[in-house]
Amino acid sequence: MKACYPGSFDPITNGHLDIISRASGMFEEVYVLIMKNPKKTCLFSEEERKNMIEKSLPADMKNVKVKIGEGLTVNEARRLGCGAIIRGIRAVSDYEYELQIATANMMLGHEIETIFLIAKPQYSFLSSSVVKEIASYHGDILNLVPYQIAEEVEAKFAK
Ligand code: ADP
Repeated sequence: MKACYPGSFDPITNGHLDIISRASGMFEEVYVLIMKNPKKTCLFSEEERKNMIEKSLPADMKNVKVKIGEGLTVNEARRLGCGAIIRGIRAVSDYEYELQIATANMMLGHEIETIFLIAKPQYSFLSSSVVKEIASYHGDILNLVPYQIAEEVEAKFAK
C-alpha cells in the first residue's frame, strides 16, 4: 500500500523526519505532501520546503518522494494512489484537531484510512513553530532540524 504524509513542513523538523522514516518501513511508497494552505502564512515557499525535505532524506530511503499538493487531502491521496494518510500525534492537544480532520477525511474518502504515528518522546515538544521561534532569536536549532537544512533556516533570520 502507498501512503501520503500531508502537512506544512515549514520547515521540516527531526520529528517529521522520524515519522517519515517509520512510515517508509511500513509502506511500499510514501509521499510527503506539502499542502498549499491559503489560510496559513508560511515562512518558506513550497519549492523551498520541497528542497529542504529532499535534502534531509537519507540516500537509502528510496521509497519516499516529496510532492506539493492543494485542495482536499483525500483528492490528492487518491490522485497519488494512496490507501492511507499518515499523521503524527504529539500530545492530547494534537488529538482533538487530528480526530476532526481524520473524521472529515473518512466521510470524504471512506476507502482511505488515516494512520496515526505517535511522536517519539524526544520529539513530542518539537514543532516547526518552535524551530522558527528559536531561530528568530538566533538560538541553536542543530538538534531540532535535519543537519542538512539548519543553515538555510538560520539564514532566513540573519540580518
Ligand atoms: P499541519 O499544518 O498540517 O499541522 P505540520 O507540518 O505542522 O502540518 O505537521 C504535519 C504532521 O506532522 C501533523 O500530523 C503533525 O501532528 C505531525 N508532527 C509535527 N511535528 C511532529 C513531531 N515532532 N513528532 C511527530 N509528529 C509531528
